[in-house]
Amino acid sequence: MQGLDYDAIVIGAGMSGLYQLIRLRELGFRTRVFEAGSGVGGTWYWNRYPGARFDSESYSYGYSFDPELLQAWSWSEHFAPQPETLRYLNHVADRYDLRRDIQFETRVAAARYEEATRGWTVTLEDGSRHTARFLITAVGVLSAPTLPRIEGMESFAGRSWHTARWPKEPVDFAGLRVAVIGTGATGVQTIQEVAKTAGHLTVFQRTPNWCAPLHNRPITEEEQRRIKASYPEIFRRCEETFSCFIHTTDPRGTFEVTKEEREAFYEELYASPGFGIWVGNFRDMLTDPAANREISDFVARKIRQRVKDPALAERLIPTNHGFGTRRLPLETGYYEVYNQPNVRLVDTRETPIERITPAGILTSAGEQAFDVIVYATGFDAITGAFDRIDIRGAEGRRLKEAWAGGARTFLGMLVEGFPNMLMLLGPHTALGNIPRSIEYNVDWATRLLRHAQERALTRIEVRPEAVQAWHDHVLSCAEGLLTFQVDSWMTGVNRNVEGKQTRVVARYAGSAPDYRAWCDAVTAGGYRELMLA
Ligand code: NAP
Repeated sequence: MQGLDYDAIVIGAGMSGLYQLIRLRELGFRTRVFEAGSGVGGTWYWNRYPGARFDSESYSYGYSFDPELLQAWSWSEHFAPQPETLRYLNHVADRYDLRRDIQFETRVAAARYEEATRGWTVTLEDGSRHTARFLITAVGVLSAPTLPRIEGMESFAGRSWHTARWPKEPVDFAGLRVAVIGTGATGVQTIQEVAKTAGHLTVFQRTPNWCAPLHNRPITEEEQRRIKASYPEIFRRCEETFSCFIHTTDPRGTFEVTKEEREAFYEELYASPGFGIWVGNFRDMLTDPAANREISDFVARKIRQRVKDPALAERLIPTNHGFGTRRLPLETGYYEVYNQPNVRLVDTRETPIERITPAGILTSAGEQAFDVIVYATGFDAITGAFDRIDIRGAEGRRLKEAWAGGARTFLGMLVEGFPNMLMLLGPHTALGNIPRSIEYNVDWATRLLRHAQERALTRIEVRPEAVQAWHDHVLSCAEGLLTFQVDSWMTGVNRNVEGKQTRVVARYAGSAPDYRAWCDAVTAGGYRELMLA
């Protein structure tokens, strides 16, 4: 590779970056991975907040590419906690000797495509430059944390963190006055854990979210044997379902069954572990408003049963969106937390936060003192991690500007005008059970790189008409879905980020099998959608 330092530079050593590195080594690529953290793990490295754990069944989440790895690792719980997942990813890094190609504590500031060399120049925050033929982004979907825009945050005299920047040493909340701002999947997990030990916990809720029970428990020895014996079936099943979870959408429509049958089915789902109630529910739950109202009413009744104070229960029931139209937080005793004497809910729609003070938080109802403020305020999702790097394509055009009105990609992996750049978990790839999407994306990208390698091709760029066709497909998949009529990270809305106030189709809403069919057709057709030179 005349004059280029590497064949490929990978940004990020989370689940995607690690697996991509393994595959690039098989191609014989000289690869460098730049990782901002001091260790591997990405999402599972950064999100150390108390209570962080899987919402996917553990045994459907790990890498599936190596049967020996599957047999070597034993998950301890059906939904493993973050420290265990981080141990798992370190185990993977050790097992395949990955660290020697990863440079830690290294943030990428910029990446620029140079036509003269048909390569990328990557500039690190320390100013050093590194060149490679291919740039592979493995930057994650929910990896650019966003703090709220509240006056006075820097003046707070106690301790405060965003949940994705949690300190490595354990935090003891005993006797402390703790505030948690935000009630998404992260806030819910944090709140139910911190409430166990905090002297006093105040939850600042702007929008309640629908939550459902996780029903986690340890994996018994007998279950462990069965899981290890059935990995091929588990992953085959994940390959067949809509979003790669082990749960299958019920083929029935909500109103094709009697009210009694419907109620019994909802009860069964509510009592079952994991995402069944979200992705294994009636097929029309997210398309028919009346069907959605049925399940919403059912879950609202559950909340009223679980929260003793009726007025408080009403504050915890969403009124501006239906069940499952935002990403469903799974919980363990979340609603019961509000029955504890040491927990209080502040509804910021009634009493807005005015500012953070040195002592605590001032709302329109007065000031409350805190020792700790936890910001569970989410992420600049999907495109945020790209926006934070100055990525420039063939004509010096900045990716952030190219995507200003919403991202446009081909299969979520390629961008017009950005030759030799491949994205893992880029915008408009199929998401769902993330590791399943990662493995597919990495294998597809690797096949393309092998194709180029075998033919001594040095330039890969997607044709504009292919991008248009994919974009049309992405938009058509979102049509009629209630999910796209609601503000959330899936519709690209983050009120804490400039330019992200308007809904877009931020997430591919087709099925994973459909997504893979599109991608496989491109490979089988000899990459006619790409300009290869
Ligand atoms: P999120 O769903 O975007 O939630 C952010 C929360 O912060 C929302 O409740 C939001 O309120 C609130 N917020 C933001 N700014 C605020 C402000 N200025 N004042 C008051 N409240 C404010 O983020 P997240 O909870 O971190 O979850 C993001 C995604 O990460 C999840 O949807 C999920 O995909 C993933 N996740 C997965 C797991 C798992 O697998 N177990 C766990 C955690 C997270 P509004 O709703 O009003 O904007």
